[in-house]
Amino acid sequence: MASSISLAVAIAAIGAGALLEMRQDAFARAQEASSNLSLILERDIARNLEIFELSMHAVIDGVKDPEILRLPPAIRQLVLFDRSTNATDLGSMLATDEKGNLVLDSRSTPARPVNVADRDYFKVHRDSTTAGLFVSQPFQPRLTETAQSIGLSRRLSHADGSFAGIVVGTLRLNYFRRLFEGTKLGPGGTVTLLRDDGIVLMRRPYDAATIGRSIAASSSFPPLMQAQQGSFVGIAALDGTERLYDFRHVTGFPLVLVVGLSTDDIYAEWRKRAWLIGGLILALDIVIILLSALISQQFRRRLAMEEHLRLMVNTDGLTGIGSRRALDEAADIEWRRAWRNQQPLSLLMIDVDHFKNFNDRYGHAGGDDALAAVARCIADNIRRPGDYAARYGGEEFAVLLPNTGMDGAMAVAGKIRTAVQGLGLPNAGSTHQVLTISIGVACAEGRSRFANLRLLFGASDEALYEAKESGRNRVAAARERQKNQAHGAALER
Ligand code: GH3
Ligand code: MG
Ligand code: MG
Repeated sequence: MASSISLAVAIAAIGAGALLEMRQDAFARAQEASSNLSLILERDIARNLEIFELSMHAVIDGVKDPEILRLPPAIRQLVLFDRSTNATDLGSMLATDEKGNLVLDSRSTPARPVNVADRDYFKVHRDSTTAGLFVSQPFQPRLTETAQSIGLSRRLSHADGSFAGIVVGTLRLNYFRRLFEGTKLGPGGTVTLLRDDGIVLMRRPYDAATIGRSIAASSSFPPLMQAQQGSFVGIAALDGTERLYDFRHVTGFPLVLVVGLSTDDIYAEWRKRAWLIGGLILALDIVIILLSALISQQFRRRLAMEEHLRLMVNTDGLTGIGSRRALDEAADIEWRRAWRNQQPLSLLMIDVDHFKNFNDRYGHAGGDDALAAVARCIADNIRRPGDYAARYGGEEFAVLLPNTGMDGAMAVAGKIRTAVQGLGLPNAGSTHQVLTISIGVACAEGRSRFANLRLLFGASDEALYEAKESGRNRVAAARERQKNQAHGAALER
């Protein structure tokens, strides 16, 4: 039972180990997938923004060149704005003077009469010479456009370094939205594009309310700023979901791209399998334990049965004392022990007197009862551990007395004889009037030890014969001479 429980525990442990490994595998796969996805998205964004920026540089260079500025407007337009500025999701490419009024406009000649002095992408350059490439907050364009956009702007300077205006290109956030929505991430997955200061420019799943919000204060933001790229597990600032995040800064731009896979999604498949495998292991364990309980119960029953059978074989059914078979075994063991320990071993041979008459007169059932009573007298008078009484056959009994010399054996025999006579069972056919027994006693001891167990039995048998001969209801000791001559008698038994 204990071993089957350890087997069940071992199976459960192996199962748990395998499940743990599967869980780690699921996480490793998710890490790989999110890393690949963020890499591809980052490259796409970096490449498109780079092309966009190249177009801006063409405008910046053009604005500085007086010859280009002197060209007729239609031609100038062709020189300054290459066709890429008309690509989907690109808004307008604009240049302003130092007051924020449009002076060049990719969508119109002459430039539309618009002032952008209130825009962050204008103010930043007006107030600082070191802003470089600036990515604006999301805004709603004023002109024909309706889609939310961001502006990428650079400063224009006069020859003396003073502020001359800006060049700004606007980009519809739809570009990012479409890019992100094409990805497969699982229901809890997110892709977020952030400005370096924590402003959300786009997020999948799309929610207009999150665009333009800052997550700079959330705990998941600082790790993004600590490396060019990396991954970590964190709780989302926007929806409180735990995710595995893989982030990358967009090369050359103040932007961070973050791919998040929800841990629920990562482990969804694993969880299903874990339930299945866990259930199977549990069922297996239960089967093992139940089976082993059943087997051990059967085993115990069998042991009990065997014990019962052993007892039956070794017990005499009528009298409840030892059987002939058990006596043979006990005699063998005690004989060897006596030899080994140089201790005496005595044997009483008991026979009921005139029992044929008793049976004839009181019936077989009465005879059986008398035999049981005699057996009780015998059992009651042997008290030492190791003493062994058995029914030898018919109305004959034998008693083994280990470590008991002739005197002791004679004393025990005398007590048994007296006890039987004391029962007072009437036996009219007997000279003694009551049921009596005769006992032959032999003792294997010291120098005059018998050569074997059979001779001991033969000697006690002969002594019994003598007890019968000399009038019954008495005890006779085997005589010395019998020790070596009793062989014949032993064989006759
Ligand atoms: P003795 O004094 O010489 O021993 O006379 P006896 O009548 O006892 O002589 P014997 O040993 O020849 O007789 C044995 C009788 O014991 C035979 C049988 O009737 C009876 N007997 C043997 N076994 C049983 C038994 O299991 N039950 C009963 N009721 N009687 C038995
Ligand atoms: Mg007899
Ligand atoms: Mg007899």
